[in-house]
Amino acid sequence: MFYKSTRNSSVRVESAVAIAKSISEEGGLFVPESIPMLSMDELRALLGKTYAQRAAYIFSKYLTDFTESELRYCTERAYTTKAFDTENIAELAHLFDGTYMLELWHGPTCAFKDMALQILPYFLTTAVKKLSLEKKVVILVATSGDTGKAALEGFKDVPGTEILVFYPEEGVSDMQKRQMTTQEGENVAVCAVKGNFDDCQNGVKQIFTDKDVLAIMEQGGFAFSSANSINWGRLVPQIVYYVSAYVTLAEDGELNYGDQLNVVVPTGNFGNILAAYYAKQMGVPIGKLICASNVNKVLTDFIRTGIYDRNRDFHATISPSMDILISSNLERLLYLLADEDDAQIQKWFGLLASTGCYEVTDAVKEKLTELFYGGFCDDTETKETIGKLYQEYGYTCDTHTAVAVKVYQDYRKETGDITKTLIASTASPFKFSGSVLEAIGAESGETDEYAKVEQLKQASGLKIPQSLAALQQKPRRFTDSIEKTEMRQFALKKLHLS
Ligand SMILES: *Cc1c(COP(=O)(O)O)cnc(C)c1O
Repeated sequence: MFYKSTRNSSVRVESAVAIAKSISEEGGLFVPESIPMLSMDELRALLGKTYAQRAAYIFSKYLTDFTESELRYCTERAYTTKAFDTENIAELAHLFDGTYMLELWHGPTCAFKDMALQILPYFLTTAVKKLSLEKKVVILVATSGDTGKAALEGFKDVPGTEILVFYPEEGVSDMQKRQMTTQEGENVAVCAVKGNFDDCQNGVKQIFTDKDVLAIMEQGGFAFSSANSINWGRLVPQIVYYVSAYVTLAEDGELNYGDQLNVVVPTGNFGNILAAYYAKQMGVPIGKLICASNVNKVLTDFIRTGIYDRNRDFHATISPSMDILISSNLERLLYLLADEDDAQIQKWFGLLASTGCYEVTDAVKEKLTELFYGGFCDDTETKETIGKLYQEYGYTCDTHTAVAVKVYQDYRKETGDITKTLIASTASPFKFSGSVLEAIGAESGETDEYAKVEQLKQASGLKIPQSLAALQQKPRRFTDSIEKTEMRQFALKKLHLS
């Protein structure tokens, strides 16, 4: 299996190169040249297998240049009960009739990013070794809150790597900030940026493609890679849990092989929902893909009109990991929907860069609305939804997951579609204790984060994740805060290159 670039279809690299480089030279994203199929018999054969075994099987179809033993090495080290607090790695909870929560936050940082970022360092170091690169890999991360911490945990003290994370100073939750600024490890650095997530993402992209920086890096024996979902190594692990969830639901008698399953995903950078799209294209009977946004609803508008327009106000919400106006992974979807027309992609993304806006063709619009439903909700509706789930079903969910539940309810009302449905639950409610407490009417004016965590434990009956509890004792190691124009300089200084 080879990988092409969304901006140059004649590029042909193996997956190890796609993962190590993370972005193609001309700025495109790597995509597999074809989507491998998964037959109903193969799905059935995954029954009774562990999550790590299911993952290795899916990966063997995409990462064909990795040997079986390399894939086993990666999956067996990543998906363990040392890192995840459940043997199933991802949990399925029944919400109401025919509606299931896919809990993707049982990993070390309590957000779904762990599903991919626990394994990416193994993929990356294996790829570097396979390619005999003899270089130190530098991971630059722009985070809206959860990726940063998950990447830091995944890469901390991994030999041959350095990791540097930029987060928007005012754009993450208290717990997220605490998670990142107390990070341990000798090869890690964290820095706050006076700006929003898009500023951080743009800054990182600029450093990535700066010719002078690249020359300095080359001289120093360093090479950049990315832990953001532009890296194929981030995306492919996310396909696994959709396949695995389908098999588990069949195993539990909740559906029969072949039955359709709709999937709802609270969306920001479009990585998670794109993985569901890949699972569908592989042959998993996934029906409608329901894309849920908060008031930064650039994707809702895009799915409904075919016009992507980032020229709008940016809103800081209580679901901060979805406060994004440029969804990078949309480029991969559009490349596929536009029949791999790389010139078309160059044109649209050129327009996005220069004017902030583009409109896709009627043919693409048609495919888009057939596959996807887009909806959004505001903070008030998000809180109402958390409160309702808590009162009516005794289920406590975080703010991002609540956005997905609300949009799903709207979808069901609007369409009458009662197909069984899987909702991606993307974070532990303890990461957003303050907002969740308010939503369930249990806040008591406490300002200390850990008092809130304790209160949420009492109210929800849930266990406080061990990794979050442990942070209370840890000292803050990283206090830097910089202007968005200073990111390049900061990165060079941290890497001792200036
Ligand atoms: C990252 C994140 C999202 C958005 O996922 P994308 O893959 O960027 O669309 C949603 N919820 C939580 C909790 C997240 O951390």
